[in-house]
Amino acid sequence: MFGRSRRNLARWFTLSMGSILIGFAGLLYYVEIVDELDKLDRLLYQKTRVMATNANYEFQKGELDLENVPLLGSNTRLLNTEMVYARWYSPSEQLVQFFGTPAPEELKIAPGFDTIKTTVPWIRQVTLPVYQESQLIGYLQVGTPLTSTQESLAQLRLVLTLAVPVTLGIIGITGWFLGGVAMQPIRYSYEQLHRFTANASHELRAPLAAVLSNAQVGLLSPVGDGSQQRLRLEKIVDVTKSMSSLVSNLLLLARHERPLDPKSLNAVDLTSLLKEIADIYTIQAAAVGLSLSSHLPWQPLYLPADPDLLRQVVTNLLSNACKYTPGGGKIQLRLFTRSHQAVIQVEDSGIGIGETDLPHVFEGFYRVHTERSKYTGGFGLGLAIAMQIVTAHRGTLTASSVVGQGTTFTIKLPM
Ligand code: ADP
Repeated sequence: MFGRSRRNLARWFTLSMGSILIGFAGLLYYVEIVDELDKLDRLLYQKTRVMATNANYEFQKGELDLENVPLLGSNTRLLNTEMVYARWYSPSEQLVQFFGTPAPEELKIAPGFDTIKTTVPWIRQVTLPVYQESQLIGYLQVGTPLTSTQESLAQLRLVLTLAVPVTLGIIGITGWFLGGVAMQPIRYSYEQLHRFTANASHELRAPLAAVLSNAQVGLLSPVGDGSQQRLRLEKIVDVTKSMSSLVSNLLLLARHERPLDPKSLNAVDLTSLLKEIADIYTIQAAAVGLSLSSHLPWQPLYLPADPDLLRQVVTNLLSNACKYTPGGGKIQLRLFTRSHQAVIQVEDSGIGIGETDLPHVFEGFYRVHTERSKYTGGFGLGLAIAMQIVTAHRGTLTASSVVGQGTTFTIKLPM
């Protein structure tokens, strides 16, 4: 799928950039033709005007030697214009004199510039009416070969025919490379989603199987076996509760993928929110032989937030701290401000998280198994949810830990 998308991206990139390139090359070639012809026309016109002036002068004297006219009044030979012919036509457009290539008896072409393509090389020709005291005395027609123009255009064509395919190749390779770069984040998200879905299905399969087997065994058992039926029903209730919690967690994750709309946030007093949570957890921690102390400011600390979601984050961190700290350990909950941010810290003196696991603990369904498997039991979604909620508040959640000494989670929220 990704390979095909990458190929498509590369193909469309090459096609679009290639069409622009070919259009540009065509335009360049056209501009060059116009430019070359313009240069040649100006030279030809200049030369023909000199000839016309001199022809006029000689005509007055009653003699007209066309062959020598071009040299009169012009000491320099025109740069790359060699004359193929010069023709003098009467005002009635009949040929009077010519030199060079034989000419038609009658002037068939209107005054102006023409390209004669029937000869090799092609000829650029100009036909000028010549006036003497506002009276038409004839037409001068001069032709010059287009050899140099054709040569330089052929050279340009050669350069373009080599350069365009090479550039197209480079564009294709760049498109392929860029397609790969563009695909990377999509591939990463896709793989993450795929892993997440597989994990979620896997987590749901085991409790569903437990519910099914308990229900099936219950149906097969004799009706009078009341206590066993009750045990099975209790098992079903437990498993269903755990499934329901998993589904709620998944829903929570799905709902808070994007930053929260600031308009939907209320000014929440973090101090009283944390105090409320700390009061509940002090009792729970004491029940498992842990001491929880909270260090909160005296005054209220307001910031825009969703109080239920923030409660969920702190609850997740505190319940983890209780879960992964052996009896007799300490847990601390802190709140303070630093550089326009509210900072919440949950620190425990628990088993800690290894360096290799630490970067992954915020991924959905990631659980640190190995030797501390006796501590597991959750779905591995608590920290992923916490991270998502904090990110949705435009804040950050980080963890630092030393194995055997404890873990500190730090939440920073903009005020
Ligand atoms: P779970 O529901 O498994 O606790 P979490 O997403 O909350 O999932 O945590 C992911 C993993 O990170 C846990 O499996 C645990 O190994 C590790 N972890 C989280 N909090 C702590 C902590 N305070 N101390 C040690 N390990 C922790």
